[in-house]
Amino acid sequence: MPSADVVGLYSCGPTVYSFPHLGNMRAYVFADTLRRALRWKGIPVRHVVNITDVGHAVADSDTGEDKLEVAAARERRSVEDIASFYTKAFFDDLAALGVLPADEYPRASDYVPQMIEFAERLEERGYTYLLPSGLYFDTSKSPGYGELALLDIAGQREGARVEHVEGRRNKTDFALWRAEEPGVRRVMRWESPWGWGAPGWHLECSVMSIALLGPHFDIHTGGVDHRQLHHINEIAQSEAYLGDGRPWVQYWLHGEFLLLDAEKIAKSTGGGPRLADLVAAGYHPMAYRLFLLGGHYRSQLDFTNQGIDAAQATLRRLVGRVEPLRPLPVVETLPAARALLPGPDADKVAVAYLDQIDAAISADLATPRILASLQEALRDPDISTEGLRVVVAAADALLGLGLGDLDARAVDRRRSAADLDPAEVSAIEALIAARTAARKEKDWARADEIRAELSELGVEVTDTPTGPVWELK
Ligand SMILES: [Zn+2]
Repeated sequence: MPSADVVGLYSCGPTVYSFPHLGNMRAYVFADTLRRALRWKGIPVRHVVNITDVGHAVADSDTGEDKLEVAAARERRSVEDIASFYTKAFFDDLAALGVLPADEYPRASDYVPQMIEFAERLEERGYTYLLPSGLYFDTSKSPGYGELALLDIAGQREGARVEHVEGRRNKTDFALWRAEEPGVRRVMRWESPWGWGAPGWHLECSVMSIALLGPHFDIHTGGVDHRQLHHINEIAQSEAYLGDGRPWVQYWLHGEFLLLDAEKIAKSTGGGPRLADLVAAGYHPMAYRLFLLGGHYRSQLDFTNQGIDAAQATLRRLVGRVEPLRPLPVVETLPAARALLPGPDADKVAVAYLDQIDAAISADLATPRILASLQEALRDPDISTEGLRVVVAAADALLGLGLGDLDARAVDRRRSAADLDPAEVSAIEALIAARTAARKEKDWARADEIRAELSELGVEVTDTPTGPVWELK
């Protein structure tokens, strides 16, 4: 249980039945940015991210099979294998993206007895009713139901849900316990006061966050899609459970979607693109992080080839400029950064950049502005080298790109000539022909100019007795 001066932060985690795609990972880079912002302000954080390995039915509905069980049947593996395999894939992606590890990653399957107790208390308090398909939460008994979603509640009650559940009193009512259908034996099943079955999906987040962060905590994050259903249900059941008339959680922050260029991506991977697909295509994982930070977390972001190319190029330039400044000082907070620029002779230019960075992170995590300040500082002729080192370290403590030790060669993956398209090859060959012609005319200046141009394209020319040959350097 955290103490009063530690911020409790809970982020809805993945349902581990398939590889996380790039859009899934945006939510965790966003939560990581929030953590880094709190650290920057000197505020200790206890962060909990759940792993949903039971209870999440297909299509977010209340009935039918679990996503995990469907995946296990499809892949002919046990549910435990599926869960541990995809949990590892999730952790791998978090690590590759430089996301700070959470303090706890509770697994839903470890908390089923607590979920049953939670639902029992709701039943005792008269918030539930029992149907053959399970135990349901009666949302009409929850006074502020749906407030977080900023929706017309009456409209939401009637219109939002399409799934038909026999006997459900309100369309917004949701399952706390999903009873086994007659004649169907679930793979993951528990005995409960309402018979054999599995917990409803929303229950785990309330139960595990309260268990690990205390009854009321500070910040809850998730994808914007959760605001319309999952989070309003978490709030309704938690406030009914606590019954103290206080809001359950103080602040809710939602990260926007990543929009995928579906045509291009579906062709290459057959599903949502993964971080591993980007890496296989020659991008550094941090180029994806940089791409995400180039947009504000509350704005939708279009994932395009041009966008990720530009991010990779920016990352390469950043690493190139930061390399001569290494080793960077360790700077995690604004006071720590200021302390490294002491006294009346402090580099005023550097101090001004620190203030810009602080203002940007304080303005609802405006990461694009931090990136802009960082790039500006790196080009600024008036900043001292020592001041620049502090500014770069400070910006990177918030951006989390690892500029202090990213390997420039890993960012700048060298391509082979076979990767070039025919238009690129003929452009290179035209330049080489022009250079050969200039040399024949003994126009050495022009030949050197063309060589420099080729060099900018990453092409190295060697003159051999049989003529010039070129390769990508
Ligand atoms: Zn959740």
